[in-house]
Amino acid sequence: MLVAVLVALCGGVGAARMLSGLVRVVPPQDLTAIVNVGDDMELHGLHISPDLDTVTYTLAGMDNRETGWGVAGESWAVMDELHRLGGEDWFRLGDRDLATHLYRTGRLRAGATLSAVTAELSERRGVPVRLLPATDDALRTRVTLAEASELGPAGSEVGFQDYFVRLRHDVAVSRVRFDGAEGARPAPGVMESLEEATRIVVCPSNPVVSIGPLLAVPGLQAVLEARRADVVAVSPIIAGAALKGPADRLLAELGTESSVVGIARLYAPWVGTLVVDDADAALARRVEAEGVRCVVTGTVMSSPERAAALARVVLDA
Ligand code: GDP
Ligand code: CA
Repeated sequence: MLVAVLVALCGGVGAARMLSGLVRVVPPQDLTAIVNVGDDMELHGLHISPDLDTVTYTLAGMDNRETGWGVAGESWAVMDELHRLGGEDWFRLGDRDLATHLYRTGRLRAGATLSAVTAELSERRGVPVRLLPATDDALRTRVTLAEASELGPAGSEVGFQDYFVRLRHDVAVSRVRFDGAEGARPAPGVMESLEEATRIVVCPSNPVVSIGPLLAVPGLQAVLEARRADVVAVSPIIAGAALKGPADRLLAELGTESSVVGIARLYAPWVGTLVVDDADAALARRVEAEGVRCVVTGTVMSSPERAAALARVVLDA
């Protein structure tokens, strides 16, 4: 065992991959994942938590490797029928995935907190890692579009999934804000786990729309700043680009260089060490000039073994 208590800050896919590596090198029960809820939304009256579900499905071994979201071997009877009815089908919800949202929504309506429901869902799926939503309160990422789109003129503010899925994040953004963040309280266990962790890992997730909403929960950034020496981040940007998704574009549009140097500058107040890919070895000095220790290794988690190798480096860092 390398460390006693480990906390990971998580978005969706990049985080799920990092967690699948970490569980191979530490006892999973010593691992707590604090997960973004800024992507959550209500659709068809259902509460959908995409990042919590991506992490849960991946750790339960039921994730769809081809799409990068949803459940493997999924069927689509409900969506197909909804399409025939002319219903809203831009956000694809498979039949098995829908069971998750039905369960979650029913429990929330009955008065359970999101963290309680998350614990139930992960326990029933055999996930040994403790999964915590960053907050049980409604915190929703909202995106202001810099150009006109099918959803309205330039300057329109839309929900995160409207930007990400409906518009396929193929539109310039001028602002991102986290609606409800000011009044949000960290979910039970979040502050305690961050205070007690021997190591805090920032997964390679979108800095703006996955890590940003975590930092927006009052108290979180302050505790991370106090723990800075023990905070290790893995860069989601490799050779200036995101492996997937709009992280590179969003960083540039919101005024941060899309490179490991930009990530170092953005995270410097609360991250002590940044792990960057071999492809960025030449930038290590510039990362350190931002006041952040730099570790260079292979960071593309194309298999669980590679993810485990990266996890070992992160824990040794
Ligand atoms: P989402 O919530 O599923 O959209 O995704 P995340 O917030 O987890 O972030 C996606 C980010 O993770 C992108 O910027 C990717 O470049 C990054 N990412 C995904 N897989 C990997 C990986 O194997 N290695 C590294 N370094 N970054 C990754
Ligand atoms: Ca996400």
